[in-house]
Amino acid sequence: MFRSANTAVALAIAVFAWVPPLNAQTTNGPRVPELIQPLVSRGLKVTVDTSGAPECADWAERAKEMVELWHPIVSAYLDAPLDPSEKEIHLVFKEMKGVAATSKNVITIASGWVKSHPNDLGMVLHELVHVVQDYPPTQSVWLIEGIADYIRFWMAEPEGQPKQFNRAKDNYRNGYRTTGAFLAWIEKQYKTPIVRDTNLALRRATYKDNLFEEKTGKNLDALWAEFMDRTEKPTAETKRPT
Ligand SMILES: [Zn+2]
Repeated sequence: MFRSANTAVALAIAVFAWVPPLNAQTTNGPRVPELIQPLVSRGLKVTVDTSGAPECADWAERAKEMVELWHPIVSAYLDAPLDPSEKEIHLVFKEMKGVAATSKNVITIASGWVKSHPNDLGMVLHELVHVVQDYPPTQSVWLIEGIADYIRFWMAEPEGQPKQFNRAKDNYRNGYRTTGAFLAWIEKQYKTPIVRDTNLALRRATYKDNLFEEKTGKNLDALWAEFMDRTEKPTAETKRPT
């Protein structure tokens, strides 16, 4: 088990730095890098059910491979108990609205989305983070979704990172990529592992917004204002004449 093991976190960070982009890992046939085979072979069981969408069978195998690759990495990074003897993850493909949904260790994936977005393995990684998070009930949804997209876009798919924001419609509580970008910026700007700290507080059900002030000296609104000053998309009035 990796809980609180610094070596596991160091390994996870090393792997993040080393693992190639998400799509590159899985489009050229099954292969799990030797470096992390010891993690993969610890007994995690991933099942695939395409009985409701047989046309997704090949894609489902790629998704399974990605989950086997990333589950131990995400578990180590988010300091989640890694006891694969009890761990099974089920990938279920079927016709449904939307993209995907996760309930405990079952990730249900919309077959229509797979057909129209064949390169979107990253959304399965997002759902995998939810499986690993497994936080107690009633934790902050914006952070749950923000951390999932942080793992996806700041660890695996950097090409999906948003570059600009809009003060009128974006907010750190929007979750997803916006929150992911905000967390990534705080980590860089204030040199503090805010994702790991936030994750631990959510896991222990002790998260409060003042965590950000404790770690950076500024509250969330002040941090967001600073983030906006640096990343907001220029409007017509603020654009410099060319
Ligand atoms: Zn989500």
